[in-house]
Amino acid sequence: MPNWLTNFVLPKIRAAVGRKEVPDNLWTQCPGCEQTLFQRDLAADLMVCRHCGHHFRIGSGERFRLLFDGAAFEAVELPKTPVDPLRFRDSKRYTERLREAQAKLGAGSDAVAVAQGRIGGIAAVVAALDFAFMGGSMGIAAGEALLAAARLAVERHAALVAVPSSGGARMQEGILSLMQMPRTIIAADMVKEARLPYIVVLTDPTTGGVAASFAAIGDIIVAEPGAIVGFAGARVIQETIREKLPEGFQRAEYLLEHGMVDMVVPRGQLAATLARVLKLLREPLTLPAAPA
Ligand SMILES: [Zn+2]
Repeated sequence: MPNWLTNFVLPKIRAAVGRKEVPDNLWTQCPGCEQTLFQRDLAADLMVCRHCGHHFRIGSGERFRLLFDGAAFEAVELPKTPVDPLRFRDSKRYTERLREAQAKLGAGSDAVAVAQGRIGGIAAVVAALDFAFMGGSMGIAAGEALLAAARLAVERHAALVAVPSSGGARMQEGILSLMQMPRTIIAADMVKEARLPYIVVLTDPTTGGVAASFAAIGDIIVAEPGAIVGFAGARVIQETIREKLPEGFQRAEYLLEHGMVDMVVPRGQLAATLARVLKLLREPLTLPAAPA
C-alpha cells in the first residue's frame, strides 16, 4: 500500500542514487563469459577478455595501431566512388544509412580503411574492415579500397595484409556489390603476380561475399581465436541439409583443424607473428645476388 515511504522517501533515495550512477562506457560485459570488465583494463588488454580470452571486435584505427611497428602508420587516401548508384531504399534510404555510419567513423569513410607503414621492419600496406560501418559490408568503395591498397603495395614493393570483419556483400548496391568479389580477387592477384606476400587475418565475423573472395586466398591465412568464418550462416546450413552441425562449426579453431586456416593467433601475438611471417617470405629477396 502506498504511504509516505513509497511516495516521499523512495523517490528521494532514487534521485540521490540515480545521480551517482556509473557511466555506461566504464564497464563492459563480456559476451564470452559474462564477467563485467573495466573498460580501461579491456583497452589495455587490446580488447581481449582477461577471463576467457573473448576477442571483442575492434575498428580499423585500433587494428593499424596494433599491427604497425611503434603504432606508426600513414593513412592512405582512397578513391572517391559513386554514392548510392541504385537509389536504394528499404526501411530507410541508403544515403541515410551511409550518413549515419559516417557520423560514427568519419566523413567520407566506408567499410574499408587502408594504411601503410612497417611490420617487423618490412614495408606493408594494411586494408582493414570496420564492422561498425554497416556490418563491414562490401560495396563499390570497399572494392576500390582493396584495389588501391594492392596497387600501392606493388608500387612500394610492400606486403599486403587484409583484415576482414564483414557480414558480406552490401545489399543496397545489389549486383554492383557482388561484382566487388572478382575485383578484390584481381587486387590480391596483382600483389601475388608481383611476387609480394598477401596475408589475410580473419577476424570475427568474416562471412558471405567477403569470406568467398579476397578473405579466402591469402598466401598465409591467420585467424583470431573464436572468429566466425564461413559463407552462409550455421542456421541456414543446418536447415538446408537437415543435419546437426558439429561443435565449433565455422569457428577459427575448427577451420584450423580442417585445413582452411594456417594459424590461429591471439591478438596480443598478432603483430609479432606477422613480422615473423613477412620476414620469412621477404628475406630471400634481400640475399646478395650470385656472382655472374
Ligand atoms: Zn570473457
